[in-house]
Amino acid sequence: MGGHEKNYVQKALEDNWVTTAGPNLPGFEHDICQHTNSRHAVALSSGTATIHLALRVLGVQPGDEVLCSTFTFVASANPILYLGAQPVFVESEPDTWNMCPETLHKAIASRLRLGKRPAAILLVHLYGMPAKMKEIMAVAQEFGIPVVEDAAEALGSRYGGHQVGTFGRIGVFSFNGNKIITTSGGGALITEDEQLAEQARFLSTQAKDPAPYYQHSQMGYNYRMSNISAGIGRGQMEVLEKRVKQRREIHTFYRNQLGHIEGLEFLPEPKACFSNRWLTTVLLPAPHTPESIRLALEEENIETRPLWKPMHLQPLFEHHPYEGDNLSGKLFERGLCLPSSSSLTDEELDKVVKHLKRLLEVT
Ligand SMILES: *Cc1c(COP(=O)(O)O)cnc(C)c1O
Repeated sequence: MGGHEKNYVQKALEDNWVTTAGPNLPGFEHDICQHTNSRHAVALSSGTATIHLALRVLGVQPGDEVLCSTFTFVASANPILYLGAQPVFVESEPDTWNMCPETLHKAIASRLRLGKRPAAILLVHLYGMPAKMKEIMAVAQEFGIPVVEDAAEALGSRYGGHQVGTFGRIGVFSFNGNKIITTSGGGALITEDEQLAEQARFLSTQAKDPAPYYQHSQMGYNYRMSNISAGIGRGQMEVLEKRVKQRREIHTFYRNQLGHIEGLEFLPEPKACFSNRWLTTVLLPAPHTPESIRLALEEENIETRPLWKPMHLQPLFEHHPYEGDNLSGKLFERGLCLPSSSSLTDEELDKVVKHLKRLLEVT
């Protein structure tokens, strides 16, 4: 927490605004619009719910296909299934680890040859690194397919000076407890399109028709954020820039301390990209494996995590189409997420580096 969250929450409790309405909601949404320089924001109950609503308001129907980054957390892809639609997974490129524009082009062409027109593109800015938006948007425009940006891990990241989430029709953020800032649980949708924002807000509160009684013409959801969570969010927005700075400093520290180790690779920041460095990831030199290093560090009470296992390798999605060369599968076999919390102390960071150097046999 940054410090001011409790003031907003306290005020909500005092004024009895403890439900999915109250002044923290427009306040938080205003802060998100200001920070991302977008016109509309809708605060929702989770990032997953936000992706679900984003695809719904873009008109994704049962049986439709949605092109989706394969290298991601399952929360990106599950909402496609919620809608009865089918994910088509698209492989990453090596510069950002995000959706490859050429592979996307190929995937669209091959779906069109089968007579299937993809309804949307859902791309992810993984670990905070922006995807190659210029090239991706050119492909999307060529085929006239709407783009949703899953920026759940990338709030505060920029591409070509613009905040991620502002390139596609809709951008998605998450405020889950593990993200760069949190509302304990929550999400937000951003868009330039007033109608999409209004429709998302309408559907998120059970799609109540404008009638004096409870009348419904559409299927809605209970997806609105609570005024308590939004209060935490307002406090957190005050420290977002600071959190980005801290995470980037942690990344620089690891790179300076470990960059010389033979075969150990960090993900560099391409020229157009500014990453919030939500998590610092490394590719390990053979013969070390992510699991051997993870277990060895666990002995020292240091927690690391494997990279996300790509969707095209998940049992859940084994029968879904996939376009690519398995780059993400290879990254998954070599990669590890290092401790990256902005609350890490210098002593803790020194300890991680000391043990990594020891394990990777460098003095
Ligand atoms: C966390 C996350 C989500 C889902 O957000 P929740 O708020 O946890 O539902 C979606 N996509 C990615 C890439 C994530 O990391």
